[in-house]
Amino acid sequence: MQLLKKSNFPKFIVVTGGVLSGLGKGVAAASIGNLLASQYKVVAIKCDGYLNVDPGTMNPIEHGEVFVLDDGGEVDMDFGHYERFLNITTKFEWNITMGKVYREVLEKERRGDYLGKTVQLIPHVTDEIKRRFYDVAKKEKADIVLIEIGGTVGDIENELYLEAVKQLRQELTNDRVLFAHLTYIPIPSGVNEQKSKPTQMSVKEINERGIRPHVIIGRCAEYIEPHLKEKIARFCNVNKEAVISGVDVPSVYAIPLVFKKEGIISSIEKRFKINLKPDTKKWEKLTDQLLSKKGKKKVTVAICGKYTALQDSYASIIESILHCEAHLNCKVDLKWLETTDIFDEQDVQVKMEGVDGIIVPGGFGSRGTEGKIKVIKYARENNIPFLGLCYGLQLAVIEFARHKCNLEEANSTEINPKTPFPVVDILEEQKSITDKGGTMRLGAYTAYITPDSKVNKIYKEKVVSERHRHRYEVNPQFHEVLKKEGLVISGMDKSKTLAEFIELPKHKYFVATQAHPELKSSLLHPAPLFKEFVRSCIK
Ligand code: GLN
Repeated sequence: MQLLKKSNFPKFIVVTGGVLSGLGKGVAAASIGNLLASQYKVVAIKCDGYLNVDPGTMNPIEHGEVFVLDDGGEVDMDFGHYERFLNITTKFEWNITMGKVYREVLEKERRGDYLGKTVQLIPHVTDEIKRRFYDVAKKEKADIVLIEIGGTVGDIENELYLEAVKQLRQELTNDRVLFAHLTYIPIPSGVNEQKSKPTQMSVKEINERGIRPHVIIGRCAEYIEPHLKEKIARFCNVNKEAVISGVDVPSVYAIPLVFKKEGIISSIEKRFKINLKPDTKKWEKLTDQLLSKKGKKKVTVAICGKYTALQDSYASIIESILHCEAHLNCKVDLKWLETTDIFDEQDVQVKMEGVDGIIVPGGFGSRGTEGKIKVIKYARENNIPFLGLCYGLQLAVIEFARHKCNLEEANSTEINPKTPFPVVDILEEQKSITDKGGTMRLGAYTAYITPDSKVNKIYKEKVVSERHRHRYEVNPQFHEVLKKEGLVISGMDKSKTLAEFIELPKHKYFVATQAHPELKSSLLHPAPLFKEFVRSCIK
């Protein structure tokens, strides 16, 4: 901590939320970071109040997508925003959960690190939280540390994080910590004017915790009226210029530009005593392309999964498609298809009417898999562009084995442990693992691409790295049978035993990967497999 006190860097931007959940705190934090990232080394920390060590064991329908990092960390989906908006590779340590914090404190207690002391929420738990803030800052040699506190002010489970950032503020000089608070400015029906009271109440609430926001971002349907900004400034004790409209926009990618236009830069400059000249040219151009409606080709892509009830479960896939839209000047309509409801091939035909391309995303367990296999068969036989992601690859292999290799009851042992043809089987290294948390084949792995394959042409590389999250793999014992019938294994892992990519060379676009390339796609650099997939849908 000594090191931190010497210079006036790193600086900390703490983003909190009030009034309601779901206002887009993650996007707001990422957007602030976006405006700083061209000049400074920015890292992003997310604090979650739950007692799970990480979200890896949560149902995606409950929690949204589990985002996987290069280092194998399973983290909150806000990390997707950070990586896409800041162009950085985030780390597992940057996601602080109460599960991690308590585990550490209890381990220390057992070790005797607090010997003689009564272990308490304050200071021991808050110290552990702060230690993590400082550690990340130091290890990463960060200039600016974004800290997003999950939930809404007033939630019991996030109180200790608020206490910790209050203490952080006490420990550092004024030009080192900026608090930005996201609230909501409703226009109640019948009243028909913007109301500031929820913002005032929520700022009052955060003030009670010893935190005075320096910037207030009001999520709103229309730009905040100047007189209302004045009122908020007066009641919430900030400058009028520090009240920023977080106006609804058709795409989250426009938010950094909205914040810039609303003048957030000058508040940051003043507080931190720095000069900011964010370079947003490329971002602006791509956002314009994304939002423009002129001369766009339209295509429909079906996403066939079982978590379709909550689109957040597939957040990165949706983003990857948007990135393609910006680069290929097209509009992709997504058609969500719950595959548990598919009963026969005729059903598939009806549901696939007007569909130009099919994505079968990742998944777990047996529910919905037979429906997905029918969809894949349809894509293969009708020359419809198909992109399989993780489970999507495994199910494509099962489909191919059943209908092209005559292995009638071929299956994955995840679905039917007694299948006579286990074309997909549990990874050798997974067989002895019993714990469920953080034990899959996780994170970035390199794949060696088959020369002259479609995947080779798409990536334009011989060696690629993508992120993984799975326990099963294509059973190497069946590679030859599959190849003989025309399936190309277009990428293998380092040991040359695991199939990382497959393709059908004669098909318009039939490519699947054991990885999740959607996790590395960004507005500036769309994932190559997605881009080529969408291009094929347009053709
Ligand atoms: N259930 C499969 C496995 O564990 C696929 C996982 C996934 O799609 N992420 O291998």
